[in-house]
Amino acid sequence: MALHILEQVPLAPFTTMHVGGNARFFVRVKSIEDLQESILFARAKNLSIFILGSGSNILVSGDGYSGLVIKIELKGITYENSRVTAGAGEVWDEVVRGVVQYNLWGIENLSLVPGTVGGASVQNIGAYGVEACDTIFSVEALDTETMQIKTFLRKECEFGYRESIFKKNKNLIVVSVSFELTENGVPRVDYEDVKKYFEKKKVIVSTLVEIREAIVAIRTRKMPAPSIGTAGSFFKNPIVEVSQYEALKIQFPGIKAYPQGDSTIKLSAAWLLDHVGKWCGVRRGDAGVYEKQALILVNYGKATAEEILSLAHEMRCDIKEKTNVLLEEEVVML
Ligand SMILES: Cc1cc2nc3c(=O)[nH]c(=O)nc-3n(C[C@H](O)[C@H](O)[C@H](O)COP(=O)(O)OP(=O)(O)OC[C@H]3O[C@@H](n4cnc5c(N)ncnc54)[C@H](O)[C@@H]3O)c2cc1C
Repeated sequence: MALHILEQVPLAPFTTMHVGGNARFFVRVKSIEDLQESILFARAKNLSIFILGSGSNILVSGDGYSGLVIKIELKGITYENSRVTAGAGEVWDEVVRGVVQYNLWGIENLSLVPGTVGGASVQNIGAYGVEACDTIFSVEALDTETMQIKTFLRKECEFGYRESIFKKNKNLIVVSVSFELTENGVPRVDYEDVKKYFEKKKVIVSTLVEIREAIVAIRTRKMPAPSIGTAGSFFKNPIVEVSQYEALKIQFPGIKAYPQGDSTIKLSAAWLLDHVGKWCGVRRGDAGVYEKQALILVNYGKATAEEILSLAHEMRCDIKEKTNVLLEEEVVML
């Protein structure tokens, strides 16, 4: 079937932040052939390309995008014993729900994270003590330079904290991801919120379904309702030298931090923004900081990308001034 390339498509409805201007060109791709054809179209017109999953970690500017936006809708899930392979356009949480039903352990703590499977590998999503890269066996990506599909084993994916080779190298478009899961997993419930949830329920957790239910309940309570525009955590947790952390601990005794097993330590950006900056619930027009979580910037209605960025800038300057720690954005700007 011929490619259906649209012109001047508003991008706001394709993002969870619900802001942004138009894409000059926009196409949905459901096969690798569609993807290759779209790239050739962009090349012929000398257009830049932006790969879109479900827009849950991007902020689109009011000017929109002057190139071609390719929305990845590559589907399909296959199970081969404990190896699960999913198309990049599959909805992440549907894959999690499916593997939990199959009694496969490994990604249950990542329940309810919005986005696609492709986005999950690019951003190396993480929550409640687990990261996508813990179970990713390999990633298949189309290299736009060679137009060939290449398989990247986990160690070749250069995964880091919300990082991967696919995030750094814009020539690579993820088409599918394989996960190596296990039938004999153990519950990972040492993360504070999860531990508290089961303590309160007075049950000893043992099944995958119980963990998924717990994560879904915790996240539903903590996150803004889906009708409120947000892209999740706006900033990454900053990683600093232990010496800097020790100095900050004297000034801010309750500071929350996670040792990295080397000379660095990951600080909780949410804690800094909440306790040092008192940012929870602050609003600048329709751009605001979620009242229950200072790391989450929200669009309460008609905020523009520029207003959200201006608020983020204010927050970053405030934390830098008070702690000398620089907050880096997790959200991808377009
Ligand atoms: C309410 C809320 C809660 C969230 N909670 C968490 C959380 O707990 N943990 C966490 O880690 N994240 C969280 N996020 C962020 C977000 O869910 C993830 O980053 C998600 O993986 C993004 O997937 P996506 O398909 O929406 O990607 P998009 O937002 O569409 O794109 C993100 C980036 O990935 C690139 N990309 C997407 N697909 C591909 C592909 N197939 N090939 C190459 N590049 C691609 C895009 O070009 C862009 O640079 C949250 C977001 C929201 C809105």
